[in-house]
Amino acid sequence: MYRKFDKAAYRWDGVEPHEYKENHEVFRHVTKQVLFENEGDLPVQFRYFQVEPGGWSSFEHHEHMHMVVIFRGQGHALLGDEVREVHEGDLITIPPWTWHQFKADEGEPLGFFCLVNARRDAPVYPTEEDVKALRKKPEVAAFLDR
Ligand code: MN
Repeated sequence: MYRKFDKAAYRWDGVEPHEYKENHEVFRHVTKQVLFENEGDLPVQFRYFQVEPGGWSSFEHHEHMHMVVIFRGQGHALLGDEVREVHEGDLITIPPWTWHQFKADEGEPLGFFCLVNARRDAPVYPTEEDVKALRKKPEVAAFLDR
């Protein structure tokens, strides 16, 4: 399989971007392209997510792990109870049951690759109590208010 990358559009040949229905409590201005999927020798799904300026990815946790590489732009990520600036090339591992969310800075989209197991559990979203507990850390509250 060969999929040519279109640098102007940030698209790969034959891959249709999936736009998430707007649900601002969960995500905003995000598209997903599934670049590779396999259930045989390499049982993973490899995706490219793009968060438009000022948007964010889903705020969630789950049993399955993520391995993320920032491909484009910059933003901030919530990883557990830590907030990190993320830039092109950064590599992020998200262990099981770790709260996570990616937010794009203003100006440029934030694009990242994300590797997951082909067989994985569904995401769980934070309850009001979870959010309250997370907000106790001022930098986390500041991130959530961005
Ligand atoms: Mn996730």
